[in-house]
Amino acid sequence: METGNAMSGDENMANAIRYYSTNRKLEPTDKMVPIGSTVSFREALMMGQAPDEGLFMPDRIPAISREAIAALRGRPYGEAARLVMEAFLAEDISPEKLDACIGSAYTFSVPLEQVVAGKYIMRLDQGPTASFKDFAARMMARLMSLMKGHETRLNVLVATSGDTGSAVGDAYRGVAGINVYILYPRAEVSCRQKKQLDTLGENVQAISIAGKFDDCQDLVKQAFADPSLHGLNLTSANSINFGRILPQIIYYVYAYAQLAAPGEQIVFSIPSGNFGNALGCEYARRMGLPVRKLVMPVNENDEFSRFLETGSYEKISPSRACLSNAMNVGHPSNLARFFDLYGGTVDRNGRVHAYPDLQAMRKNIFSVSVSDQDTRATIKRVYERYGVVLEPHGAVGWRGLEAYLDATGDDALCVSLETAHPAKFPEAVAEAIGLKPELPQSMKDLDKKTGEPILMDNDYEAFRTYLSGLM
Ligand SMILES: *Cc1c(COP(=O)(O)O)cnc(C)c1O
Repeated sequence: METGNAMSGDENMANAIRYYSTNRKLEPTDKMVPIGSTVSFREALMMGQAPDEGLFMPDRIPAISREAIAALRGRPYGEAARLVMEAFLAEDISPEKLDACIGSAYTFSVPLEQVVAGKYIMRLDQGPTASFKDFAARMMARLMSLMKGHETRLNVLVATSGDTGSAVGDAYRGVAGINVYILYPRAEVSCRQKKQLDTLGENVQAISIAGKFDDCQDLVKQAFADPSLHGLNLTSANSINFGRILPQIIYYVYAYAQLAAPGEQIVFSIPSGNFGNALGCEYARRMGLPVRKLVMPVNENDEFSRFLETGSYEKISPSRACLSNAMNVGHPSNLARFFDLYGGTVDRNGRVHAYPDLQAMRKNIFSVSVSDQDTRATIKRVYERYGVVLEPHGAVGWRGLEAYLDATGDDALCVSLETAHPAKFPEAVAEAIGLKPELPQSMKDLDKKTGEPILMDNDYEAFRTYLSGLM
């Protein structure tokens, strides 16, 4: 690969975690990454997707001790970040550089709000673009800028259903040597999301696609696999990049340390689309966090909840347009990672090559589909009953948690994630509770900003031609 020269030191780090592809067991092709062949974190970060179109996975999951977790109680978020990031990256990056990344990435608060006794909302919406994606995007931009080497120019491609694009664009804006292209589905983003994306400016260009989110994702994946674009140093900032997953482990550890008694079990509810956020929780559990259940509610794109129920997987194509639009995903890209962790293989087209251990999955994971109607009713009910304002994604999370508690009678400590600020979805929230949520400071100036997207058909040739022009 093109950044290979600068990486000659990687091979010497005997203890460093290595990364393999989820497609390693498929029929060999010319792009196949051979079984047993792995790359360093830096290579995985720069490549985004593996050459065989699989996703990179760490070849071992480091443990964090009960004592180390307990010591985070009452401590700032950055300390949880250091514990998790160091466990994975101690051999790849110096402690000083890691601290600098953490210090400049995490400059905002992470509120844990009690709704009723033992049941909390974690608000991951206080970053600059008011969605949980700020957490991962800001860390990844810093890691990439640090690890890419001065001589290399990178072009980052991002497919977004709304929030990824603005979070990634904001995180990379002004970073020297990196250009960012954001593809979004024209008819599926809210007015405010569109404004956020179109007006990022500087080294960040929005591309408005006449298609669905899955189409945007496909265009990006095709570009990565296209040898004629090799000279562009294309890389991904979607959650197919492991650099996006790693920072999403941190807030589970942080929340647990603040709320749980030592050793106590916890349930997290994670409104899910591409499953990157939930994957962070799965890794946190495998690192040693006492997670009793991962609740993964989805909207009407119910391919995963049906799979857990029936044991057979069928992607939804085209994906269904729901209120919680950042979760309109008919085949979650990170399902490949979940399958791999449980012994199965599914490719990027949703074809299952080997089914995972369903019993083990059901033991650890609960999933349910929440309709738009139920989402609206939940926003209303949670506001009336508890005075807590949710937006559609957080409402899917809360409703999923209720469904889990109803089904099991579990009385564990629970944390449901609010993944975006209610002001990002003013229409849906106003319709449900009759008032418009106040804009966070970071979004107040948005209406004054200007900028235009590039308009493009859902056509790979058009996209390829545009990209070729950048060489
Ligand atoms: C992206 C997003 C999700 C879904 O997260 P995944 O990691 O794709 O499962 C949920 N809510 C909001 C607000 C998002 O932006």
